[in-house]
Amino acid sequence: MATGNINVSVENIFPLIKKFLYSDHEIFLRELISNATDATLKLNHLIRIGEAKIEAKHPKIEIKINKEDNTLHIIDEGVGMTKDEVEKYINEIAFSGAEEFLEKYKDSDSKDTGIIGHFGLGFYSAFMVANKVEIKTKSWKDEPAAHWTCEGTTKFSLEESDKTDRGTEIILHINDDEKEFLEDQRITELLVKYNKFMPISIKFGTKEK
Ligand code: ADP
Ligand code: MG
Repeated sequence: MATGNINVSVENIFPLIKKFLYSDHEIFLRELISNATDATLKLNHLIRIGEAKIEAKHPKIEIKINKEDNTLHIIDEGVGMTKDEVEKYINEIAFSGAEEFLEKYKDSDSKDTGIIGHFGLGFYSAFMVANKVEIKTKSWKDEPAAHWTCEGTTKFSLEESDKTDRGTEIILHINDDEKEFLEDQRITELLVKYNKFMPISIKFGTKEK
């Protein structure tokens, strides 16, 4: 198992994410669904151009709540990530956006909720509602699956995982004061709000949208 420090010169990105988005924590779901959608569309494209020799099926995105564990799961059947890609796209690139973000907004009091997406902090918005986030992911490439865990500091762990299905599962361990995001009703409301224009169908509970 690898452990390491996320490559970031600013130690306090997580408190900042919370500060800037204080009023609009719910957008984490939009960000994670949009990542799941991107991953699904990327795989569709690779299949279409013949690069991924995988049987085309109808991929979906699934959202699950586990009330016993206080977890919310966003599961896609898209391209997935290799361990190296998690290193690159989650540990390094995401925080290069963070530096730019901090530089620009360090003196500002703005609570502009549009900011975070523009700086590539999309994935990290999960930490607005979760004290621990896991990624279990298996690439469409023939490589072992990976399991990344981070508890809202710049430390993370990255190891191999036994996930066998292609795609990515994001597991959010929801904070005590964000328990509303473990309620079916609240998630349904957000899916209606954010997903009118989403191209991939989303399964939540027994409903498919
Ligand atoms: P952005 O979506 O703007 O690139 P994010 O912080 O939302 O920034 O995501 C960072 C990167 O992590 C993505 O570009 C993608 O490479 C990778 N990633 C995030 N979520 C997924 C996912 N569900 N499946 C595959 N790759 C993902
Ligand atoms: Mg994104």
